[in-house]
Formats: sequence, C-alpha cells, structure tokens
Amino acid sequence: MPRKPSFRDRAFVVRTYDFGEADRVVVLLTRTHGLVRAVAKGVRKSRSRFGSRIQPFVDIDVQLYPGRNLATITQADTVAYFGAGIIDDYDRYTAACAIMETAEKLSYSDLADAVLFDATSDALTRLQGNDHPTLVLDAFILRATENSGWGLSLFECANCGAPGPHAAFSPSLGGAVCTTCRPPGAMDVDPEVLHTMWLIQNGRATTAEHAERVHRATTAHLQWHVESAVRSLKIMEQA
Ligand SMILES: [Zn+2]
Repeated sequence: MPRKPSFRDRAFVVRTYDFGEADRVVVLLTRTHGLVRAVAKGVRKSRSRFGSRIQPFVDIDVQLYPGRNLATITQADTVAYFGAGIIDDYDRYTAACAIMETAEKLSYSDLADAVLFDATSDALTRLQGNDHPTLVLDAFILRATENSGWGLSLFECANCGAPGPHAAFSPSLGGAVCTTCRPPGAMDVDPEVLHTMWLIQNGRATTAEHAERVHRATTAHLQWHVESAVRSLKIMEQA
C-alpha cells in the first residue's frame, strides 16, 4: 500500500506526553483531520526549531507526515497565540483548559470538524482579559455540544414539546422538562436559569447572571454526553 502523502492543517495542542529523552507526543485538534496524534521530534531540546510553538493555546499551522500509529510534525508555524491574558489568571486558565478538554472529548480521529475548531479559537479569543471565564466556557460547551447533535431545548419540554417556562432540567432528555415528563434525577431549576442558558446558546448573554447555576446545568449536560468527567470542569467546581 502506498504511504499517505504528508498534509498541512491548522491545529491546537490538546494534550502532550513526553516521549523518550527529547521528543513529545502531542494530541492535535486539527481543523480538517479531526484528532491527530503526532510526534514532535526534539522539541524538548532548547535548540528545537518549533518547540515553543507546540504548546497549548497556540493556533498552529502544521505539516504532518502520516505514520502507522503516529504522525510526525515536520513543520509548525504560529498563526495566533492566545496565552496572553489567560495563563496568568487562574480562572481564565482553568476555563481554557476545560475548553481544550471539551474540544478533545467532542472530536474524533479523521473526522473534519471546522466548526468545533473555529468555536475553540473563538472561545480562546473571548477568554483573553474576560472577567466572566465561566460564561465563555459555558457558551463554548453549549455551542460545541449543539454542533455534535446534542442541542438543548431550553423553553419547550425536551420530551413532549409543551411550551415553557419549565422548572426542571434533564440532561438525559436534553433540556427543560415539564412536570409530566420529568424523569427521576432531573434537576430543579429556576426558569430564569434556563432563559439565561438560552441567551448564552444564542450568543446573546453578556452578563454572568445566575452564572453558578447555569454552569452547573451546562456541566451536567456535557457530562451526560461524554463518557468520562472532564477533569478541568471539576477543578473549576472546587474553586
Ligand atoms: Zn413534557
């Protein structure tokens, strides 16, 4: 079988592992090839050509050479650096980590998802210097899960379609639920919280009203849909 040709793509580093003495294995969220696992050779040496670019929160343009299990990064150029205004602030940093982990959980190998990549880039842009990092994270989660086909119904009952406002939220049924449809384990929720989530979902919320309860419901929604809990979300809940 002929080898696949090398390819170019935009990427964010979502995870790294040290590999041998000088190499690093990175998991890349790419714009048009889904998740790609790749070796960045020699990047832990100070004379590395692109070591400083193979970092979290950097939008990179990478050249990748496919391998049997792992691709090899042969070139990396910085498109945009988002670390400024994020890495020196604990709340923004944990939100940024949760955004990257959420993006990783919602993406698949070899499946192009430019919407997810662009949403990640937008979220990191909005996070820089932002006073409501949790709001940015929740907006990203709502947008990214909707893109994955898990959009929430936040006014009508997610089960029977009865118009709201409703006072219960069920991650398993996909949003607001009426008193008839409410399953065991649904959360009691102020209709105002669901309304705020709707505003966030539609890119219209700018204040952090009900932020804590919005975040709790949004997190429950995400966690229902991903097998394992997202570690950074837990860190934020503890903070
Ligand atoms: Zn119903």
